[in-house]
Amino acid sequence: MKYISTRGQVEPVEFRQAVLMGLADDGGLLIPERIPDAAGRMDAWRGLGYADLAFEVIRLFVTDIPESDLRALIDRTYADAFDPAPAPTVRVGDLHVMELWHGPTLAFKDIALQLLGNLFEYILAREHTTLNILGATSGDTGSAAICGVRGREGIRIFVMHPHGGVSEIQERQMTTVLDDNVHNLAVTGTFDDCQRIMKDLAADLDFKRPYRIGAVNSVNWARVLAQIVYYVKAAFDVQQATGAAAARVSVPTGNFGNILAGWYAMQMGAPISQLLLATNRNNILDRFFAAGTYSLGTVYKTFSPSMDIQVASNFERYLYYRTGEDAEALRAMMARFRKTGELAVPPGPDGVVDPAIASGMADEDQTLATIRRTWREHEYLLDPHSAVGVCVAERLAGDGGDPIVCLATAHPAKFPAAIEQATGEDLAHHPAIDALAEMETRCTVVPNDKEKVRRFIVETVGARS
Ligand SMILES: *Cc1c(COP(=O)(O)O)cnc(C)c1O
Repeated sequence: MKYISTRGQVEPVEFRQAVLMGLADDGGLLIPERIPDAAGRMDAWRGLGYADLAFEVIRLFVTDIPESDLRALIDRTYADAFDPAPAPTVRVGDLHVMELWHGPTLAFKDIALQLLGNLFEYILAREHTTLNILGATSGDTGSAAICGVRGREGIRIFVMHPHGGVSEIQERQMTTVLDDNVHNLAVTGTFDDCQRIMKDLAADLDFKRPYRIGAVNSVNWARVLAQIVYYVKAAFDVQQATGAAAARVSVPTGNFGNILAGWYAMQMGAPISQLLLATNRNNILDRFFAAGTYSLGTVYKTFSPSMDIQVASNFERYLYYRTGEDAEALRAMMARFRKTGELAVPPGPDGVVDPAIASGMADEDQTLATIRRTWREHEYLLDPHSAVGVCVAERLAGDGGDPIVCLATAHPAKFPAAIEQATGEDLAHHPAIDALAEMETRCTVVPNDKEKVRRFIVETVGARS
């Protein structure tokens, strides 16, 4: 299987190279040259354990790692790091909830980043090379990325966060990781400043190449790939619980990375009849799927900070397919979007933008009300991100469609203030979060200046290699 760029200006590469490349060298996103049809395999896959299913799905996209090695990598990833399992589905009233937060940092990003860490280590060892990952985070991604690569051979990670600009829990989840290869940089600026520094340094090829700068954000194809697995499992779980022929899946959405994996699962033939895209007040994607127009607005701070985004970096992959896999048309569309902050895809004759994706939004009051009601009625605590998905699912549940499974993307203990405001009680705890308060931390404060960040990386890499 080869990988091509959505912008069509990169020679096709194998999977291993796609993982190391992250963002395509032409500024586009890497995608598989074709989507495997697995409809005929679903019956054989039903009943497999998580790691076995992951192997069956992932091997269809990976042809340059020997199967026995791939199998060992996947087994190692999903055997120990998830307690008790990567993606159990539970019943909450009439809804099915798939809990994706059983990994080490208690958010769904662990499912992909634990695999990506293992893949990086494996690929770098075979290619006798090293990688210096540079990331910027406003919260959840940083800790899951750090946890995915801590202590690994051949990899260093530098994660910038806005100094004083992330929650105390999120900061401690990152800065209590003391492994030698982990460097937390608190930048005296905003998240946008951190992101700008990351983009500027990664675009500077005279720096990127000799210092082997890599990426772990959700533009990395391996992250989307790892997530396809739990969509297939979600559909199987609902079929088993209800006898329905297919399921709908509700997805709390920010950067479109999670739901995009669901879209690939549908194209492969998984028994999913529709995806429900749920946003918070930052509803650029909800507006797109309602009317076909994607236009920038302002970013609001909400109770679900990991969904507070404007430009959804993975949306370009979806648009590529929507424009008929025409890289030239997509390049023109993206250039126009950069200039005007707007792009449009005409809806079908029935006025529907995409029958495969319905959408909805939950504002702040609705999010808290959903947390409160789900706790009172079912004694089940949703984190604010998951609550956005449940709120939208409940709105759409009565329309006679297939049963809905809601993806729960974080453990509520990561967001105790929202839980307390919703329920009036201090209910959200997890031993791993409670323990953070007592742990030693390490972090370097750096000025909001890309040259200072560059110097930090140069000095660190120089001192240890
Ligand atoms: C990252 C994140 C999301 C949003 O996922 P996208 O792939 O960006 O759409 C939702 N919930 C939580 C808890 C997250 O960490």
